[in-house]
Amino acid sequence: MQIKIDRDLCQGHGVCESEAPAVFSVPPKSATVTVLNENPDESLRPQIMAAVKYCPTHAISISEEE
Ligand code: SF4
Repeated sequence: MQIKIDRDLCQGHGVCESEAPAVFSVPPKSATVTVLNENPDESLRPQIMAAVKYCPTHAISISEEE
């Protein structure tokens, strides 16, 4: 899977980092998220799906790779 962030929507809330700290980082002075791993291991899927679900601006999406 590949992580995609809509930078126009992301407001740096940091919910994604709380849900999946191995994949998302929101530095204190940053307005938007940094994706630490754009092609994360399948084992991280539950955390990532939680981040997608709870992101208040719905800025995170996932595309599936063959
Ligand atoms: S939870 Fe959503 S809005 Fe907040 S930093 Fe993560 S991607 Fe951006």
